[in-house]
Amino acid sequence: MRGRQAFTPDIDKAADYISDKFGQMDLDKLDSESDYLQKFEVLSIKVKNADIEVGGTEVSPDDFFVLGDTANIEWAETNEIEAVQIAEGENFQQRFNEIRESTAEAFVYVDKSHEAIFRRYQPFFSRASRTFPKEQSSNKIFVLSSKSSETSFNAYVTKETDRLELANVVGKIEGNRKDEYVVFSAHYDHIGIRQPNAAGADSIANGANDNASGTTAVIELAKYFKSKGTPERTLLFVAFTAEESGGYGSQYFSKQLEPDQIMAMFNIEMIGKPAVEGPNTAWITGFEKSSFGELLQKSAEGTIYEFYPDPYPNQNLFYRSDNATLARLGVPAHTISTTPIDVDPDYHQVSDEFETIDVAHLTNTIRAISQAAVGIVSGQDTPTRVDASQLN
Ligand SMILES: [Zn+2]
Repeated sequence: MRGRQAFTPDIDKAADYISDKFGQMDLDKLDSESDYLQKFEVLSIKVKNADIEVGGTEVSPDDFFVLGDTANIEWAETNEIEAVQIAEGENFQQRFNEIRESTAEAFVYVDKSHEAIFRRYQPFFSRASRTFPKEQSSNKIFVLSSKSSETSFNAYVTKETDRLELANVVGKIEGNRKDEYVVFSAHYDHIGIRQPNAAGADSIANGANDNASGTTAVIELAKYFKSKGTPERTLLFVAFTAEESGGYGSQYFSKQLEPDQIMAMFNIEMIGKPAVEGPNTAWITGFEKSSFGELLQKSAEGTIYEFYPDPYPNQNLFYRSDNATLARLGVPAHTISTTPIDVDPDYHQVSDEFETIDVAHLTNTIRAISQAAVGIVSGQDTPTRVDASQLN
């Protein structure tokens, strides 16, 4: 699958593979979908041509960037577009964020005292931007110029918009409680083809651990719970797309459900290598943010397996996977992982190969998750909600 990168045809094959597995198990589909693929669109917007003038003088392409939606810009001198200024002595980042979040169109003069930070932003924001179709913002043009907002300006910008299709893969086991969901998820995308280190060297980042291991867990957990008959709560098995490319899969997914109806999310990442604490252990990100981790610990008591809090708080792992999108909506959504991320030589490298996976450990971990989840699946246990106001 050549590294399953989002926005390539290769990931579609991976999606079909997972769909086939769900089909073999005869999982239910989401009510909103006719198959296991939860398809959606992302827009890619790029400036094709831009002609910007300030006080009658053309602005060099390196001295401006455009933020906004798909609409072309035709702002002539006699218009009602607001001219604003990020003046000398103002906090650039703060002003930039304010202007960016505002719904008004704006022509923004960035004082030359902010040149250093402008030069960092300009190439980044000049690249194609991606957005959900409904979440477009209004156009803003940022120009590096010490002219004041009294100066006249003209702006003519044409844009090119591509519609890109992505898909999560979602299977369901409907429970007695139709409106109480438990989500088991993992991202199935990876980072695709890299620049080889030398001529003829491997260039495919297979992502065996990141995150074929977690995707395997989701498939196996679906198989396991399907064999157990009708659960009390409704179970969703979700393979997310584009975790590595903007998190669009989990963002889209989170908007299709009522977050209050999601009782817990077991997000599974990189469980192919034993943790530093030992072979039969896994850690949980954001352990203190809900009672999810404690409930899993309690369920694992008396077994060979142990769950413990994420030992790498400085890595911000709670915020680096798809769980964060749902946690921000209050869902007790945590990532379960085992790979020593701080020293793992294969993380986001072409060396992340199947041969590096400890299959016995992977199997034990999937088994442990299946057992630790029993209380939540049966409705006996319900983790406390995450306080979204406390999240970054
Ligand atoms: Zn990952």
